[in-house]
Amino acid sequence: MVLRVLLVEDDRELRRTLRDALAVEGYDVVVSASAADATAVLRHTMVSLAPFDLLILDLGLPDGDGADVLHRVRAQFELPILIISARHDDDNKVHLLDAGADDYLVKPFSISELLARMRVTLRHRGTAVQAPRTHYHLAALTVDLAKHEVRRRDELVHLTPTEFKLLARLVRQAGQVVTHRQLLMDVWGAEYVEHTHYLRLYMGQLRAKLEHNPTEPELLLTEPGVGYRLAEPE
Ligand code: CA
Repeated sequence: MVLRVLLVEDDRELRRTLRDALAVEGYDVVVSASAADATAVLRHTMVSLAPFDLLILDLGLPDGDGADVLHRVRAQFELPILIISARHDDDNKVHLLDAGADDYLVKPFSISELLARMRVTLRHRGTAVQAPRTHYHLAALTVDLAKHEVRRRDELVHLTPTEFKLLARLVRQAGQVVTHRQLLMDVWGAEYVEHTHYLRLYMGQLRAKLEHNPTEPELLLTEPGVGYRLAEPE
């Protein structure tokens, strides 16, 4: 399952850094840079087929205070909220936790701390999240999701964005079967879950680029009638 995160942060550089880091971990991230935009996105999305699983909210926003967004969201929705802010006075922190924030992270923080707090927050809400695999190595294949790199016998392999997304999805759960439906949902989107021919096509392309013998795959394995599995890594 891919978790959807709304990241509200007006600092462009931090926003990009966090968005990229979360994407590597397999989160589906939507970004917003203002209180008004965040409120509108939430209002629209929380009643859709794919609501957010987590809100990461900065307090100092150009058109208002993140605390107002928090109050507005809490009055309407149940989603977990993690505050990120440079403000570190305890009164403010306690006030926001009382107002319904699930956690509060003081800037600057490390990416790994943010990821850990996100997992804890989601776990408290009943969503078990394990740190996903971001690196894979077996036989001639090496994949580094953080670097966005795929190598075969040390040679860089060029993948299209969709091929990479599909491979990345399998890497995150390497050794386990991922169902056709889950792959279609996570790589193409909820409206494509019946389009199994997409999957066959792209799996064929990936095998042609990554397997020693594409007709007898040793890495990208078929689980008949169920889905695909990337062979257990070394
Ligand atoms: Ca800010």
